[in-house]
Amino acid sequence: MSFLHGIAASNGIAIAKAYRLVEPDLSFEKKTIDDTNSEVKRFRMAMEKSTSELEVIRDRAKVELGEDKAAIFEAHLLVLSDPELTGPIEDKIQSEKINAEFALKETADMFITMFEQMDNEYMKERAADIRDVTKRVLCHLLGVQLVNPSMIAEEVIIVAEDLTPSDTAQLNRKFVKGFTTNIGGRTSHSAIMARSLEIPAVVGTKAATVEINNGDMVIVDGLKGEVHINPTPELVEQYRKIHNEFEAQKAEWAKLVNEKTVSADGHHVELAANIGTPNDLKGVMDNGGEGIGLYRTEFLYMGRDQLPTEEEQFESYKAVLEGMNGKPVVVRTLDIGGDKELPYLELPKELNPFLGFRAIRLCLEEQEIFRTQLRALLRASSYGNLKIMFPMIATLDEFRQAKAILEEEKAKLQSEGQTVSEKIELGIMVEIPSTAVLADQFAKEVDFFSIGTNDLIQYTMAADRMNQRVSYLYQPYSPSILRLVKMVIDASHAEGKWTGMCGEMAGDETAIPVLLGLGLDEFSMSATSILKARSLIRNLKKSDMESLAQKVLNMQTTDQVIEAVTAATK
Ligand code: PEP
Ligand code: MG
Repeated sequence: MSFLHGIAASNGIAIAKAYRLVEPDLSFEKKTIDDTNSEVKRFRMAMEKSTSELEVIRDRAKVELGEDKAAIFEAHLLVLSDPELTGPIEDKIQSEKINAEFALKETADMFITMFEQMDNEYMKERAADIRDVTKRVLCHLLGVQLVNPSMIAEEVIIVAEDLTPSDTAQLNRKFVKGFTTNIGGRTSHSAIMARSLEIPAVVGTKAATVEINNGDMVIVDGLKGEVHINPTPELVEQYRKIHNEFEAQKAEWAKLVNEKTVSADGHHVELAANIGTPNDLKGVMDNGGEGIGLYRTEFLYMGRDQLPTEEEQFESYKAVLEGMNGKPVVVRTLDIGGDKELPYLELPKELNPFLGFRAIRLCLEEQEIFRTQLRALLRASSYGNLKIMFPMIATLDEFRQAKAILEEEKAKLQSEGQTVSEKIELGIMVEIPSTAVLADQFAKEVDFFSIGTNDLIQYTMAADRMNQRVSYLYQPYSPSILRLVKMVIDASHAEGKWTGMCGEMAGDETAIPVLLGLGLDEFSMSATSILKARSLIRNLKKSDMESLAQKVLNMQTTDQVIEAVTAATK
């Protein structure tokens, strides 16, 4: 039995077998073969194994993912049975007396290059099919396992170096019970998605892929940030108890699903949810969300190979607005960059992606992308209570430019006779310190602020949110962060505007009492944190929390703040 310590990224306990999502090592050398007949046999065996594996995957895909997704595997099976590919490979083994791996790779590469050079989309896709199939056959020849997260069909815990947001989006909740990664922090996007999928996760363990083998029994403790490998039966028993207690606690919170969020002295705040796709709406309803405080639209753009059309976007936005039935929905315009990449935009690699060409910076430059999204949003606006916000605003000028583009698109749509709501509020994310410091000026022009603490903290502390070595600097309760938050809230209130928070801090038990005291109007968090937060706020008096906030703003360190909050909320 061994043990890893990491960052608790998503609540809950998971116990299952490990599934390593690690790219296999497909390296091999060219070898001379004497017995070419057995080499051909070995090749045929690998082909047969690949075929039966693909048939299982195809059939499962049909049931789990639908006919269109299954068609990919049908195409792979066609490649495998094509004598135009297999014939030359076998000839090569026989005539050149070389190993099957080498013959396969050389022949496949020749076809791939040929198809890729053709000026025909259909043939280019065939090149991709050959590449995938070759990889599968090669894995069988080399005796290594090919990974495919979307096709997992038994209960597992995913073990990976890192998970991209699109890997995470593909995880099937039915089978993926938990995950653990070597890198990442509490606010990396895979962690955020794990919370919305309610998958317990521990990230930043540094060595998960080194310590854990396929099939090892693993406990992921997403409450404490611990991973136990091949635990004793006693420990498993202990964890089953913790799991049951956690479930019982959740059942208690669930009683508050239809209640308003009102403090013990009668002050109402709004508890909203952060979502990534319309599919997340069910979780918002089940957890009693009073609105959507952050719709991260970039997930619409990810896990595909071209930009979503205006129509596709319109349908998604409309679905969310209608689904929320008149409750507020804050949609954030495209925030790509940082740890969220769009490979098909082919943007040059940057040394500091979190400080680079991302979010509103990209949208103001690549205006067609931005305008398409704004048109889709404006057209959807009459289906609910839409609020639009721009991410990563650093200067007033950026806000004004973005607003002017929005106004232009609105005027165009109206001149085409389209209905656009007249009540759309327009806000910004406050996630760059320059904007927090200048909040009084921004407050004159925006309708609302939403504080993005995941980025605001990384930029204020100059600590990459993806880097676990500096994760100790993710200090939401640092008086420096609290003072910035106060500046923003006060600036908005002075102009009769409102402030929300959609960074992870908004759902943090230690931060919530202080934020209530500072006068935050809307708390937006992973849907799964809402009921716990509601239960907490209902037990707090706003007036007491105001005194607490006043006190902690003048403290020196995070630890002092934690101590003061603990004492005030006992
Ligand atoms: C934030 O920065 O706090 C935020 C909510 O945006 P994201 O996590 O998507 O960068
Ligand atoms: Mg952000």
